[in-house]
Amino acid sequence: MIFVKGYAAQSARSSLRPFDFERRDLRPKDVLIDILYCGICHSDLHVVRNEWGRSNYPVVPGHEIVGRVVEKGKRARRFKKGDLAAVGCFVGSCRKCSNCKHGLQQYCTGGLVLTYNSYEKDGETITHGGYSTKIVVDEDYVLKVPSKLQLEKVAPLLCAGITTYSPLRYWKVGKGHRAAVLGLGGLGHMAVKFASAFGAKVTVLSRSPNKQRDANRMGAADFALTSDAEKMETLTGHFDFIIDTVSATHDFDFYLGLLRTNGVMICVGLPSGEEQLSPFNLVLGRRSIAGSLIGGLPETQEMLDYCARHKITSDVEVIPIQQVNQAYDRMVKSDVRYRFVIDLASLK
Ligand code: NAP
Ligand code: ZN
Ligand code: ZN
Repeated sequence: MIFVKGYAAQSARSSLRPFDFERRDLRPKDVLIDILYCGICHSDLHVVRNEWGRSNYPVVPGHEIVGRVVEKGKRARRFKKGDLAAVGCFVGSCRKCSNCKHGLQQYCTGGLVLTYNSYEKDGETITHGGYSTKIVVDEDYVLKVPSKLQLEKVAPLLCAGITTYSPLRYWKVGKGHRAAVLGLGGLGHMAVKFASAFGAKVTVLSRSPNKQRDANRMGAADFALTSDAEKMETLTGHFDFIIDTVSATHDFDFYLGLLRTNGVMICVGLPSGEEQLSPFNLVLGRRSIAGSLIGGLPETQEMLDYCARHKITSDVEVIPIQQVNQAYDRMVKSDVRYRFVIDLASLK
């Protein structure tokens, strides 16, 4: 077994604390990755605090992983020692279902293995994520990292990046579209960067007035404070798309009213509450509400390569792992600019 240091939550009420554990010995197609950086996603916080009601403790979170291959199994061919490597939200899937065959592993119907808080194929071993020094992953689920980009700014692309890139591509958001990004956090700021790079006219809808300048710098043409009733009134029936990244319960009906005829509200945020909405807001204007989950392996690689070509990365605050609990508290207050990233050198 491989000895690993990490940080884990032992219960919904405990903070993250040092936790040593073991990774499996390398199987023929595995690679051992020395983790350099791991982003902090709001999903990590939802799971650590059991806000979705499906946490298995101890939880070692982290699914925005960038590192270096330090060992490989006998039959691993895609990576060699010293290569940069990245791991996102899942580390296994059935490989046989139609979604897996079409590169949509995130929608695997035969047993997706998430990077943490999930069960390995043996059905017993709980997976542990990237708030740790090393990880062992089948190389088929490992992404190649473009060497030109700053690694700490690449880590958040593995979840925040692909989760916004994928629906924007699926719905072909681009030139001639008005797109709103609701919530300017980790996902939101990547949605602004991608949607504006794809040619859409982007408006940020936010509760935080102090994020306006950043929104413009990231490519947004307009910024609306959701508490500004007058401004919001001018946006009624305005947008072709709304990318909803909000992590807490909010009023869907209010935002649906901002869509024009045939407009689509794309939910990527996963609040734990029971959301309600009136069918009237869909029926009048043939509007749709849809959802999207991360992205499959081919599209995640496509996104990383796109980012390298267009020099797109995440805005990050790099922290030592010892500050992870304060980072969580700040994230809940929407005080993140715009992704915390753990420097794992602090744990070695
Ligand atoms: P985050 O960095 O905390 O950003 C969320 C943003 O939502 C905040 O910065 C804030 O923006 C806004 N917000 C927060 N509370 C709000 C409230 N009560 N009402 C209105 N707006 C509020 O979180 P994240 O990492 O981007 O994740 C966002 C959500 O997406 C989480 O629920 C996460 O679990 C989910 N997620 C889903 C997927 C997927 O595959 N679909 C993948 C990753 C994450 P302003 O300050 O601008 O208002
Ligand atoms: Zn995530
Ligand atoms: Zn499958």
